[in-house]
Amino acid sequence: MIDQLELVLPLAVEWACEQEQRILLEGEPLSGSELADANVVGVRHPERVRILPVEAIPSPSHPILKAASEQIDLLPSAPSGLTLQYGIFVRGDCRQDRHLVVHELVHTAQYERLGGILRFLRNYLFECATLGYGAAPLEQEAVEVAARIFGVGSARAPRAAAGALASGSLG
Ligand SMILES: [Zn+2]
Repeated sequence: MIDQLELVLPLAVEWACEQEQRILLEGEPLSGSELADANVVGVRHPERVRILPVEAIPSPSHPILKAASEQIDLLPSAPSGLTLQYGIFVRGDCRQDRHLVVHELVHTAQYERLGGILRFLRNYLFECATLGYGAAPLEQEAVEVAARIFGVGSARAPRAAAGALASGSLG
C-alpha cells in the first residue's frame, strides 16, 4: 500500500485542489465567532477560509483514488466534514455544529504548518495507510484540540477508532 501512495498522491492532490477552488468560489467566509475559533486553534490566515455546506461530502470519482480511499479507509463512510486547505465542506445539517467546524479548522492549521496540500496529503495519506484514519496523528490532533476547547471528550472518537481497526491490516 505504501508503494501505491506515490501513485495515488498526485491524483489526490489534483482532486483536493479542484475541490478547494470550488469551495473558495462558492463558500461563505467564517462568522465572527468562527474567526475567533480559527485564531485559537492557530490558523494563520482565517480570512482565507471558506465553508461550503453540501448535502453530502464529495468523494473522488477517479477509479484509482476511489479504490485507494476504500482500501486505506481515508474517510469515515459518511463524513460530516472535509477540509481541503482553506476550503471546508460541511454537511448542511451540521453547519451550526461548532465542534465540527473547530475540528476542521485544526486541519486548516495543519495544512498551513506542513506547507500546503501536497505536503499535508503526503503525511495524512501515509498515516491513514499505516495506522488507519482514527489513529492518524493528524486526525488525533484535530480531535484533541476540539475536545480541549469544548472541555469534553469527542463524540467522534469511537467511530474513528472503529475506522482504525477496519484498516489495521493494510499497512
Ligand atoms: Zn479530521
